[in-house]
Amino acid sequence: MHEFGIACSILETVREEAEKRPESRLLKVGVRIGEITGVEPDALTFSFDALVEGSELAPLDLVIERTPRRHLCPECQHKFAVVGYEVACPKCAEQRTRCIGGFEMEIAYLELEDREEWVAAQARTGTTGTTGTNR
Ligand SMILES: [Zn+2]
Repeated sequence: MHEFGIACSILETVREEAEKRPESRLLKVGVRIGEITGVEPDALTFSFDALVEGSELAPLDLVIERTPRRHLCPECQHKFAVVGYEVACPKCAEQRTRCIGGFEMEIAYLELEDREEWVAAQARTGTTGTTGTNR
């Protein structure tokens, strides 16, 4: 399952970022997944949730932004989103356009919350857990 490996590497990066910001709590991770990567957003969300559940990162939301396949026309430099298999330039009808987008797979943003707020929120909901702040 391709998506499982991707979810693993997203979480790896998320963990590194979380370690750099011990005072903050991660709420959300936004990723940009190109249309031609073949990644199924549903399968990715499923894998991600399965990995996050029960880990120190839970609860953590994954927000997937799908980016369309984009081509660049070498004749008129026009950039356009490809619909279906129509790769000809819509401006000058050039057939040999070049793919410049739609294969990205990257973390777009991380949404953080202050650690204090997180502890307060936990206290409100009555859940207990280790916060790791023994200073
Ligand atoms: Zn063109």
